[in-house]
Amino acid sequence: METCIFCRIIRRDTPASVVFEDEEILAFMDIQPVNPGHVLVIPKRHWASLSDIAPEAFARVSAVSQKVAAALRRSGIRCEAVNLILADGEAAGQEVFHLHMHVIPRFAGDGFGFQFNPGYAQLPERRELDECARRIHSAMTSIPRP
Ligand code: 5GP
Ligand code: ZN
Repeated sequence: METCIFCRIIRRDTPASVVFEDEEILAFMDIQPVNPGHVLVIPKRHWASLSDIAPEAFARVSAVSQKVAAALRRSGIRCEAVNLILADGEAAGQEVFHLHMHVIPRFAGDGFGFQFNPGYAQLPERRELDECARRIHSAMTSIPRP
């Protein structure tokens, strides 16, 4: 992956402030942090999306993200809470197509947050939730993964 910015960081062709590294994972500071301490955790192998990455590799991304979150809380960096965010696809806000987990320290009044659509306050009917559950459950049976 010649041009992928995160692959370039892994190869050290581009500088990054590294938090953690092993054979499979690199964790480094986001260049444009939502809050100070915003870390990105990536697999070293280039997988663009959640549907591509091997479950075992994603489990490593998750485990390291969990550890970074715990470390943030004891780092002295302002961190009352943590968001783990993974944008999978452009409509979800993914801009770099090398899978990555954002580990974002949060504190009350930090100005970051989610934006909800106008219909959000209106709870769906149970039958609508049941229908969604049925469809997703049915689709899961065709995916050969845990
Ligand atoms: P996405 O929107 O794809 O979930 O997030 C991509 C993240 O990568 C953004 O938060 C952005 O600030 C970060 N980013 C983009 N280019 C670079 C870079 O060259 N170095 C670092 N450290 N972070 C980057
Ligand atoms: Zn890459």
